[in-house]
Amino acid sequence: MKDRSLSTIGAVVDAHLCTGCGVCAYLRPDELAMADVPRVGRRPLPIAAVTGGAGGAGGNPVTACPGRRLEHPAGALDGAPYGGEWGPVLALYECWSTDPDLRHRGSSGGVVSALSAHGVTSGSAVGVLQIQAAKDDPLQNETVLNRTYEQIVGAAGSRYSPASPCERLDLVEEAEGPCIVVGKPCDIAAVRTAGELRPALAERLALTIGIFCAGTPSTAATGQVIRSLGVDPAEVSRLDYRGEGWPGRFRVVTAGGDSASTTYEKSWGALTKHRQWRCLICPDHTGEFADLGIGDPWYRKLQEGESGRSLVIVRTERGRAALATALADGVVAGHELPLERLRESQPGLESTRGAVWGRLLTMRLLGLPAPTYRGMPAFRLWWKLSLRDKVTSTGGTWRRVRARRLRRPEVGAQEAQEAREGRR
Ligand SMILES: Cc1cc2nc3c(=O)[nH]c(=O)nc-3n(C[C@H](O)[C@H](O)[C@H](O)COP(=O)(O)OP(=O)(O)OC[C@H]3O[C@@H](n4cnc5c(N)ncnc54)[C@H](O)[C@@H]3O)c2cc1C
Ligand code: SF4
Ligand code: SF4
Repeated sequence: MKDRSLSTIGAVVDAHLCTGCGVCAYLRPDELAMADVPRVGRRPLPIAAVTGGAGGAGGNPVTACPGRRLEHPAGALDGAPYGGEWGPVLALYECWSTDPDLRHRGSSGGVVSALSAHGVTSGSAVGVLQIQAAKDDPLQNETVLNRTYEQIVGAAGSRYSPASPCERLDLVEEAEGPCIVVGKPCDIAAVRTAGELRPALAERLALTIGIFCAGTPSTAATGQVIRSLGVDPAEVSRLDYRGEGWPGRFRVVTAGGDSASTTYEKSWGALTKHRQWRCLICPDHTGEFADLGIGDPWYRKLQEGESGRSLVIVRTERGRAALATALADGVVAGHELPLERLRESQPGLESTRGAVWGRLLTMRLLGLPAPTYRGMPAFRLWWKLSLRDKVTSTGGTWRRVRARRLRRPEVGAQEAQEAREGRR
């Protein structure tokens, strides 16, 4: 934990700053592979077993690592509303898939899947890099390049568990044509920086879609929720965190055909206590580096049984064109919203960004390695917090540093070895 400049991937992981995006494993496939450490998340572990946790790998991958650094390029926030506190925003829409099955199955309105599938069926992309439940273990996620409508909509639904879409950017780089990439905001930030390092990748990017994200809970947390339903996680053959309604229920089906479920609110309430540390100091929860950022339009109370809707932030001209074509071709329906619906939809995310400013300040004062954020204004949001929240964001962080043992490497040697053995 001495490397405050975070000059290696091992130092990023040791400092509890890894998001689990997987871009370092894509850039250094001979040195690093992603593996799920059930207590924390997916982490890049050196392929050759080494002692001392996840240290050892270095070189170029750190320059693409979103855990270490996020930066909007000069001019990206020119004309952005709210002083750039929500990133670049060209327009805001509320949309839903016109395929009723997909709309029902999707997390919100199935718009991420509808836009992705439309890219392929319209010929503007040959595939969609996305994550889905692993075929042989529904508590784990796998990254795939889906190429058909059925495959793409089959991956619909949020998975509130570790996933590393960027570990398979090689599939995009080697594809015969342009591809769409779906991921969390940190994943998409990594796609952007990886494209700067690898022009062959950048040439293959047709569109990037960032889903809103308040944080990734660990696999162990999912196991706890399943156990609280009286089900053994090892017996689970299907796991859905939401969907089949809006927001839908957390549901499991066992190999023996039994099923159990709980509300979205209860499951998220339990999962959220086990988010990785980097998520608590994340400034980008809405996909600021993507062409389109998509989440929930929770600016009003939902009616019982209401069909799902997705909130779409248009962030680039490429995103605007993709959404316009999908609306014109009738695969999504919807309408533009006034920009203030963005803050009203996600008030928690606005105060979180303010708190992040205070948390980072405390980390630096305590001499802990901290990520660098450029072009991501947050001080004003911190200033707007109540006195109590200001104190919590700073003093509370001091307490969390001790409770989470942030001065110790995040993954011990034994845990790394076990994760390697269960690697997928
Ligand atoms: C960990 C997590 C936290 C979230 N937090 C918020 C939040 O605070 N506020 C909010 O409004 N929305 C949040 N969402 C997003 C929200 O749940 C929906 O995904 C979003 O509203 C889009 O819905 P949709 O119906 O249009 O997408 P769908 O059509 O259902 O498609 C979802 C897409 O997301 C991909 N995906 C699912 N899980 C992951 C993952 N873990 N990593 C990478 N890709 C994934 C799938 O492969 C699929 O392509 C979160 C999602 C996740 C996974
Ligand atoms: S955040 Fe991504 S690039 Fe950085 S260490 Fe973690 S997996 Fe690697
Ligand atoms: S909260 Fe931020 S760092 Fe954590 S998974 Fe979501 S986008 Fe990545």
